[in-house]
Amino acid sequence: MDPFCSKEGFGRTIFYESEKFMALHDIKPVVLGHVLIVPKRHVLDLLELDNSEKDDMRKVFDIVVPKVLEMYKASENSYDLTLQVGPYSGRSVPHLHAHIIPRRKDDVYQREDKNIYEDIKLNASSFSLEDVDREVGRLRKEFKYARETL
Ligand SMILES: [Zn+2]
Repeated sequence: MDPFCSKEGFGRTIFYESEKFMALHDIKPVVLGHVLIVPKRHVLDLLELDNSEKDDMRKVFDIVVPKVLEMYKASENSYDLTLQVGPYSGRSVPHLHAHIIPRRKDDVYQREDKNIYEDIKLNASSFSLEDVDREVGRLRKEFKYARETL
């Protein structure tokens, strides 16, 4: 199951694209503003990226991360960066993707005895598709993403 290559089911959540990467809101976010940075080419491991992809990835991080942290009011610019590689890592999709999860001092993982990594692994989400669509709309506006939904 690799939705990042089939472009079905996740095209609705893209809000930014560079030449070699795309950024999308997670379809089952653990918090709102939980986004993914994904290479367009099918790779499984960070170490498979060529130099031009690594350069492009750094640029995408520079553009996407500060804006997302600002939009979602991350406390003191806190965020989780999670990258799962290999079948035993807990990854949900076998296509490289980095999770960027803005963190707030009052978020559910601070207030309750919850494990954010477990929730990522289980695709646990307390948000609906309508919530996700709304956030994608906000992100597309912020990132001036005008491409038609795939
Ligand atoms: Zn793929």
